[in-house]
Amino acid sequence: MQGFRALPSVDQMLTAPEGLALVAEHGRLAVVTAIRARLEIAREKIRAGQDGAVLAAGLPRAVAEDLAAAARSALRPVLNLTGTVLHTNLGRAILAEEAVRAATAAMAHPLALEFDLDGGGRGQRDDHLRGLLRALTGAEDATVVNNNAAAVLIALNTLAEGREAIVSRGELIEIGGAFRMPDIMARAGARLMEVGTTNRTHPRDYEAAIRPETGVILKVHTSNYRIEGFTAEVAAPKLAQIARKAGVPLLNDLGSGSLVDLSAHGLRREPTVAEAVAEGADLVTFSGDKLLGGPQAGFIVGRKDLVAAIDRNPLKRAVRLDKVRIAALEATLKLYRDPDRLAARLPTLRLLTRPEADIAAQAAHLAPAVDALLAPHGFSAAACACRSQVGSGALPVDTIPSAGLRLTGAGGDAPDRLSARLRALPVPVIGHIRDGALILDLRCLDADAALLDALADL
Ligand SMILES: *Cc1c(COP(=O)(O)O)cnc(C)c1O
Repeated sequence: MQGFRALPSVDQMLTAPEGLALVAEHGRLAVVTAIRARLEIAREKIRAGQDGAVLAAGLPRAVAEDLAAAARSALRPVLNLTGTVLHTNLGRAILAEEAVRAATAAMAHPLALEFDLDGGGRGQRDDHLRGLLRALTGAEDATVVNNNAAAVLIALNTLAEGREAIVSRGELIEIGGAFRMPDIMARAGARLMEVGTTNRTHPRDYEAAIRPETGVILKVHTSNYRIEGFTAEVAAPKLAQIARKAGVPLLNDLGSGSLVDLSAHGLRREPTVAEAVAEGADLVTFSGDKLLGGPQAGFIVGRKDLVAAIDRNPLKRAVRLDKVRIAALEATLKLYRDPDRLAARLPTLRLLTRPEADIAAQAAHLAPAVDALLAPHGFSAAACACRSQVGSGALPVDTIPSAGLRLTGAGGDAPDRLSARLRALPVPVIGHIRDGALILDLRCLDADAALLDALADL
């Protein structure tokens, strides 16, 4: 049994071959810090009665592992096999190649963000998107902000600060996190005027609530839940009529607004932004990273005078977009000019429309290989049917038939144990637990090799 004298010095560890290799990779400061921390732990263990020689032998490996763990980012790419295509906690939409290229160029080079290349004078950053948004939505004008929550906030603040905003009780939604419509309204400085009931709201409810203090009528697309049974809501065209007659603007928050008719791609119909504009809303708000398939952003399209008022609001500067996202959005929106190739080029749409038979064939093909990789660890894999979701609050009650792998093991905690081990991989594999098994929905797995390579590190 040896004591402290069995431990090497910092210098000895640094100049040993392993130490030199680590310095070349991580830099001297990081390696010295990691060695000191591990030596301190070893000294404590010796005080507690452990053998110094054994501890010393394990030091180089422990230091190397600490440094590797510190160098690895928690933001490293993961395999999203949750079955939720637009998973908010996994970053929602992945971008089209065209958008990635545009964003990369914007990151690495100066660009004419607020500079008019024709006249040489000052330009406006949103102008790069304004024309595209007008063409794709039929709206008079458009502006962009940090996300849809910001779009709703700044629109309400511009139209109804110190005044009233009328909303149906059936539409006072919570999106998740701290985004609750009544709270956003309070922060926007608007007084909430609730009308109707949870399940039924009628035109007369809105009409009776309109007063000189009314700043806006807000319609919210309740995409993340559905009320069934004895229900009534006032459709947007009727609401637009009521608003116009009263001289009050109508704001329609679509949330996950789509720029194309999803039913043409075999998905459930969601109202498109162009439809919401045509139905007479004065302003329409929607997200950039939900069904649209771009980076995080919020769009406000509609009447020119109202968009101009939003652009003059001092809050606009606080919620504006940076050059990287503007570049990625421009490239994403341009894909929509060619609807025939959209599903092939826009990952969100491509993944959402992957045929079930394709995914089932992939599952059948992968199951034996995954089973062989898991067997030494006491788990097994079999192909299974499952159901995917769009995600991000869009259409949660409409699942999409899909296929995947059902991973099982001995013991009631097997799914949790396996799930933890897959999350800890260098390329984490994220599934979901259901009925005593860990399910890997393969809808979002582009290449079989990506899963097999990730599992090979178990
Ligand atoms: C998602 C959503 C929001 C918030 O949009 P973010 O882009 O997440 O900020 C607001 N309203 C509705 C109806 C939504 O679905």
